[in-house]
Order: sequence, then C-alpha cells, then structure tokens
Amino acid sequence: MIFIFGANDKIVKQQQCYNQEHCYHCNNTTKWILEKNATYASLFFISVFPIKTRYIHYCPICKNGNQLNEDEYNWKKNAH
Ligand SMILES: [Zn+2]
Repeated sequence: MIFIFGANDKIVKQQQCYNQEHCYHCNNTTKWILEKNATYASLFFISVFPIKTRYIHYCPICKNGNQLNEDEYNWKKNAH
C-alpha cells in the first residue's frame, strides 16, 4: 500500500481590521487585512490536520505587512 503525504497552505480566516493604519511602504492610510493561515498535512491530497499556523497583518494596496503572534492577532481581531 502506498501513502501519499504532502502539505498545503490554506487561508483559515481573513477579515478587515476595524482601525485604519498607515502604511509607510505605499504611504496610504487604510484598513489593513488580518489573516490567519495554516499549513495542513495532507494524505492523498486531503488536508487532515494543521501543522503550523501563521497570523499576518498587511496593507491591502501593496501587500506590505508583518507577522503577528496569536495574542496580537486576537487583540486586533477584537479591537473596535
Ligand atoms: Zn501599503
């Protein structure tokens, strides 16, 4: 029996921030995108469980952004 293992990236959740942020890269002030990504282990091309989770926050215009830790992500997600 042959097993095919792999890994694939998925966007788990994507939302717009409530507060506007200034981007020093493209010089625009806009609502940034908050995104949760996960790398899933897959078996026969079906995602089975997440191996790694990443939280990112980026400018929707130039895609310049930074990585957040889980606490920062939750804080931004709930900030009004
Ligand atoms: Zn930008």
